[in-house]
Amino acid sequence: HGFGTARLRSGRELEDLDGRHLIHPHQSGAQSDRFVMVSGEGSLVRDANGVEYLDASGGGNWLAQVGHGRPELAAALTEQAGRLAYFSCFFNFSNDKAVLLAERLAGLAPAGLDRVFFTCGGSEGVESAIKLARLYHHHRGEPDRTWIISRDLAYHGATYGSGTATGFPLMHRGIGPSLPHVARVSPPYPYRAAQMYGDADPTGFLLRELEETIQRIGPGRVAAMIGEPVMGGGGVLVPPPDYWPRVRDLLTSHGILLIADEVVTAFGRTGAWFDSPGRGMDPDIIVTAKGLTSGYAPLGAVLMRADIAAAVAGDGAYFFHGHTYSGHPLSCAAALANLDVLEGEDLVERARTIGGWLREDLASADGLERVGDVRIEGATAGVELVADRATRTPVMAGAVTAALRDRHQVIVRDYGPTIVLSPPLVIGREQVRRTVRALLDVVSRLDENGAVG
Ligand code: PLP
Repeated sequence: HGFGTARLRSGRELEDLDGRHLIHPHQSGAQSDRFVMVSGEGSLVRDANGVEYLDASGGGNWLAQVGHGRPELAAALTEQAGRLAYFSCFFNFSNDKAVLLAERLAGLAPAGLDRVFFTCGGSEGVESAIKLARLYHHHRGEPDRTWIISRDLAYHGATYGSGTATGFPLMHRGIGPSLPHVARVSPPYPYRAAQMYGDADPTGFLLRELEETIQRIGPGRVAAMIGEPVMGGGGVLVPPPDYWPRVRDLLTSHGILLIADEVVTAFGRTGAWFDSPGRGMDPDIIVTAKGLTSGYAPLGAVLMRADIAAAVAGDGAYFFHGHTYSGHPLSCAAALANLDVLEGEDLVERARTIGGWLREDLASADGLERVGDVRIEGATAGVELVADRATRTPVMAGAVTAALRDRHQVIVRDYGPTIVLSPPLVIGREQVRRTVRALLDVVSRLDENGAVG
């Protein structure tokens, strides 16, 4: 045994080493504290100091659908690693797990979206979808359709293309020119509609803004619009029911494709295999990742209509795009085992049950001065915090997350003023109660400046 991997390190040692060597994704300043996780089972995870946490965040990142430490997933990965860990999917190469997973996804996807391109995660998926949309129009004789429309407060990833589509200014600052031909419009934000749009009909405002944006660019120059059916990183923003059907109609009238970013929503998170059909979104391309493997291996899948696939990867076309690990056998084996568990344990339906528990337990949040809005979609909840309910002045939620972790050993995420719950779909009734009780306790101690007493 060489030192490094085999030598047992204390929790404190690992935290120090983390501080010395690791740059964390989305790190903000020098992290003063760090939490090195080492094991997990179901909805529980343990750090290197032996502290056990209730994971109400889905591995800190909206996933872990089937729960931590599943032997079925470990077995699938081990078996595949011993049989064929890797072979390329480039050109005419393939592997059995990628083929079987593509077939499986085609069966689960909304009707017509039965062609699949594999990536390593959500950013690569969004990147691929943007290229696919532009290439589709190019190959069909409309090469000027290069513009992509996305929305403020959208999270679509962190590579240059997906990062440009992401609607958070910090993602674009200090990294030079972003992807050209990306325009952004306002997000649907019912709780803040009066403030943001000053309009009695939020969908009407958003549709007018979208139409004006398309006209400004030129309808024949727009390739696609991309959007999350429910915006996750924006703080679980749920659009009004007429939003997506009207957006879809408008885009169709201009020949513009619609890309649904279902990286968060698909595979049960909001209580459906895919979220977009239930919202009347009717997308041409769907990007997925996260719940596809519950995080047991990195994988994303971009689903598209046959005519889009034919335009970019049919006779006479070219699709000069792809990654060494596209269709990786280990990731695809993990996804197949993950889908077996999701189906076998009816976890998509269970997400709706969890939503019911959250609704029941969060009902009393209404009585708390700092709670402005509660949004629950399946096994996801956003609790938006305010300094004042009348003015709806937002309060940053970071101190709430820290207090939940340090005082109650419950892990959640915060997005600006919104606390987000996104637990494993195997979370128990009592664990949901514990999560919400802890949350309400901390929020009841929150002052208008965002400090927890
Ligand atoms: N799209 C959405 C909606 C996401 O929430 C994320 C990540 O959180 C991404 C895309 C990017 O995925 P990844 O981090 O796997 O690249």
